[in-house]
Amino acid sequence: MNDKPNKLITDDGLRLDGRRADEIRPMKIEIGVLSRADGSCYLEWGRNKILVGVFGPREAHPRRLQRADAAVIRYRYNMASFSVEDRARPGPSRRSIEISKVSREAFEPVIMAELYPKTAIDIFVEILQADAGTRTAAINASSIALADAGIPMKGLVTSCAFGKVDGQIVLDLNKEEDNYGEADFPVAMTQDGEITLLQMDGHLTPEEIKKGFELVKKGCKEILEIQQTVLRKKFETPVEEPEAEPEAKIVDTESEAAETEPSLEYAPEAAAVEETIEEAEELEAEPSEEVTETVPEAEELEEIVKEAEVEVVDGEAIEEAIEAETEEEAIEAETEEEAIEAETEEEAIEAETEEEAIEAETEEEAIEAETEEEAIEAETEEEAIEAEDESKGPWKVVKDPSESGSRGENDE
Ligand code: UDP
Repeated sequence: MNDKPNKLITDDGLRLDGRRADEIRPMKIEIGVLSRADGSCYLEWGRNKILVGVFGPREAHPRRLQRADAAVIRYRYNMASFSVEDRARPGPSRRSIEISKVSREAFEPVIMAELYPKTAIDIFVEILQADAGTRTAAINASSIALADAGIPMKGLVTSCAFGKVDGQIVLDLNKEEDNYGEADFPVAMTQDGEITLLQMDGHLTPEEIKKGFELVKKGCKEILEIQQTVLRKKFETPVEEPEAEPEAKIVDTESEAAETEPSLEYAPEAAAVEETIEEAEELEAEPSEEVTETVPEAEELEEIVKEAEVEVVDGEAIEEAIEAETEEEAIEAETEEEAIEAETEEEAIEAETEEEAIEAETEEEAIEAETEEEAIEAETEEEAIEAEDESKGPWKVVKDPSESGSRGENDE
C-alpha cells in the first residue's frame, strides 16, 4: 500500500489517533452477551470488535483428547471474513492457528484445570472487526468471559502490545502503526505481573524492550482495572430481595427489638416501623367499629330469620296436615277399593251361583231333553219295529247315509 502517512507521530508527540506514546485506546466491555454460552464478553478496543464465548467445563469430545488429571483448554481464534479491509479467507489459517495456540498458553498458568479432569473448557473468539492488536484484545475479552463462566482462575489475564513507530516506543499500536511501524511486541500477563505471552515481530534493542515493558505494565494495569470494574459491576450488583408481608415484617422487627438493644443508628427505621405498627393497629381497630354501627342491621336480620323460621314451622304444619289428609283419603280409597272388591266378590259369587244354577238348569233340561229324546227314540224304535213287522220288506231304515257304507251297494 502506498498510502503510508509521512509521520506516524507528530512533532507534538501525538500519534495519528491523538494518543500519547503511553496511552491505550479506549476500551468498552460488555459481559454476558451470549445466552447459550456459560460465559461471554463483547469487547471494543479502538476500532477492534471482538466477541468471546466460553463453554465448560464440559465432557471433552473426542474422548481421546480427555486428560485424566485436568481439563483440556481449547482456544479458537477466528477472524470473520468481513473483519478486515480485504476479505479474510474463511477457516483456520497459519496465523489463526498460531494465535489460538499462544493465547491458550497465555491462560494455562491461571486456569485451575486440575479441578475438572476429563473435561474441556472451550474459548471461542470471533474477530468481528480488526484494527491491529486483535490477539491482545481477544485475550482481555476471554479473561472476562472465563470469569463470567465461573471458571476458577488464579487471577485475570491482561494483554497489551508495545511497538516501535517512527523510532519511538509506543503502547498499543493501531492499524497504521502496526502496518508501517518497525516493531510489534504483544505481551500478556497475570494480575501478579507474571508474563504468560510474549511475541515479537520486528527489530528491537534490549533497551527498547525494557522501555516497552514499562509501558506494557502500565497498560495492563489500566486494562485490569477496567476488567475488574466490569466484573464487580456484574457480580456485586445487590440482589433485590422480595418484599416480605407487612405483618411478618412487624413480627420480625418486634422480636428483634425485644432481643437487641435499639441502636441510635437505626432510630429512623425504628420510627418507621412503629408507624407501620400503629397503622396496622388502626386498621385492626376499624372493623370492630363497623360491627357496632351495623347492630340495627343485625337486629333486622335476626327478625327476618325468625320470620323465616315461623314460616318454616307453618310450612311444616301445612305439610303434616296435607300428609294426614292424604293418608285419610288413602284409607278411604282403600276402604272403597275393598268395598268394591267385596261387592265384586259378592257379585262374582252370585254370578257363579247363577251360572251354576243355569248350568244345573241346563243339565236338568239336558237330562230332560235326553230323557225326552230317549223316549222319542224309544217310541220311534217301537214304531219302526211295528212298521217292519207291518211291511216285512227287505228295506233297512238308515238315518245317516254315512253310517251305512256305500249307498249304491244297498241300492243294488
Ligand atoms: N490483518 C488483515 N488481514 C489478515 C490478517 C491481519 O487485514 O489476514 C490486519 C488486521 O487488522 C490485524 C492486523 O492486520 O489486526 C495485524 O495483524 P497481526 O497478525 O499483527 O495480529 P494482531 O495485531 O491483530 O494481533
